[in-house]
Amino acid sequence: MASPPSNIKVHRERRLLELTWPEGGTSLLPFRFVRGRCPCAACVDENTGERMVDVMDVPADVAPKQLGFSGNYALRVEWSDDHDTGLYTWDWLEQLSQEFAAASRS
Ligand SMILES: [Zn+2]
Repeated sequence: MASPPSNIKVHRERRLLELTWPEGGTSLLPFRFVRGRCPCAACVDENTGERMVDVMDVPADVAPKQLGFSGNYALRVEWSDDHDTGLYTWDWLEQLSQEFAAASRS
């Protein structure tokens, strides 16, 4: 289990979510990327694991309306496209950070 980020910042003008990890390192993730990788049952088919809502399916200007915590294991995001069922566990956010870093390098 990943530890919670020590800090979470929302950069509205740059449309980035900034996560600071307790082990060190910072991740900057575009809002749209995070929204498009929502892990909830409306976005990913629970049975097949197939992704039904992807980055290209969400508005380019999507932004978080509200951030909250679910216990100490996940971030809950209410998005500007009125999607609020996504729970982003720390593990998932860490995975997204690696995925985005890998995509940015290639
Ligand atoms: Zn979702």
